[in-house]
Amino acid sequence: MSKKEIIKTDIVIVGGGLAGTAAAICIAQLGFKIIHLAPTAPRDSRTSALMGPSIDILTSSGLIEEPKNIGVKLSKIRIIDATNRLIRAPEALFDAREAGLDCFGYNFTNTGLLDAFEEKAQKIDSYQHIVDSFQTIESNNNDITIKTNEGQIIKCQMLVGADGKKSSVRAAAGIGIKEKKHAQSALVCDLELERDLDCASVEFHYDNGPFTLVPAGGKKANLVWMDKSEILLSAQQGGDENLIKEFEKHSMSLFGNIKLISKTFIFPLSNLSADTVGENGVVLLGEAAHAFPPVGAQGLNLSLRDIVELVDILKSVDKSKKDWGKNTSSQYAKTREKDLKATSMMVESLFKSLLSDFLPVQAARASGLWALKALPPLRKKAFSIGMGER
Ligand SMILES: Cc1cc2nc3c(=O)[nH]c(=O)nc-3n(C[C@H](O)[C@H](O)[C@H](O)COP(=O)(O)OP(=O)(O)OC[C@H]3O[C@@H](n4cnc5c(N)ncnc54)[C@H](O)[C@@H]3O)c2cc1C
Repeated sequence: MSKKEIIKTDIVIVGGGLAGTAAAICIAQLGFKIIHLAPTAPRDSRTSALMGPSIDILTSSGLIEEPKNIGVKLSKIRIIDATNRLIRAPEALFDAREAGLDCFGYNFTNTGLLDAFEEKAQKIDSYQHIVDSFQTIESNNNDITIKTNEGQIIKCQMLVGADGKKSSVRAAAGIGIKEKKHAQSALVCDLELERDLDCASVEFHYDNGPFTLVPAGGKKANLVWMDKSEILLSAQQGGDENLIKEFEKHSMSLFGNIKLISKTFIFPLSNLSADTVGENGVVLLGEAAHAFPPVGAQGLNLSLRDIVELVDILKSVDKSKKDWGKNTSSQYAKTREKDLKATSMMVESLFKSLLSDFLPVQAARASGLWALKALPPLRKKAFSIGMGER
């Protein structure tokens, strides 16, 4: 292989998923010279429900223009306790209008969002995309020197790892993780229903996890079905006809006959948190920093808050100081601590309460839903926590 010239830049951002691409755009817009190191990845089959504050981030940073052009409004959340437990919760319906809102947020396909981000990126002068993968950190003195899979050497002041749950940047920086793997996975696919969801995300809560139908426009719905991994695998292997029967059974036939209109994909679930999200000029964001089961639609919402805080710190950086990359990474780790801990605890306890066989937990969950149903101040608080208030 011929020797390549060393590239010098301010910041390298690794990962072409939603978190990495959004971060690359927002940082390049500040005028930093950035390289976005992102190989061509398989299309992401997931969808993302993003709440009001995340929509504000997307539009104010110019990542998307009109949410309604690429997303579908989420105006209601309907929760149905479909368990056979001794203590069951009442059906609960949350309507955004109660909180004086037109909608809670929007549901997007990840591919639709990524296309919009990539279109935006092409218009920014200081943004440079290299179709290649991060391989390792060669040295981390005053500059960080990295090597790519194609043998390219890049020197930068700061390295951002947004390369997903199995982050190579995190490993190369020697940052450890805590990970609890769950017995559950999530099966996702697109469906066409006989009756539409009326802008409501409908969650059927079963003993092994929720079965959620999210509006995808007209009679279309995106399914996120969480269950024991072996149950999902066997349902998937049983063929489409068998799957459709399962879908109709799990949705209690409330939406009539169901058609499967995409392939099905299964994602294993875990709770993962990096020991730190910033040190020695290396910053982690998105699933490289934190991952959890998709309950309460928090993952990408949280990643967008990572980006906002990183951008805020970078706004006041003095690039003439040689340690700015290292200082930014430690300041970022400190600033993100509270939100990351609170969100991860919230999702973990929500997930545990959904699965618990322990009678007092079932009672607490059921009475919690009764209280949310009946008490306006509690409902108001629940609305704002769900929307991202901490
Ligand atoms: C079933 C499911 C449903 C979800 N629903 C929601 C929801 O409704 N709302 C919400 O807010 N969140 C949701 N989430 C979470 C959300 O999807 C993720 O938080 C988000 O997509 C993660 O984005 P990411 O960019 O951090 O990681 P990824 O999407 O994993 O992207 C990582 C990228 O890094 C690249 N990469 C890997 N290694 C390298 C390397 N060495 N060099 C260069 N690039 C590399 C990969 O190719 C990939 O493109 C859901 C998650 C799941 C599993």
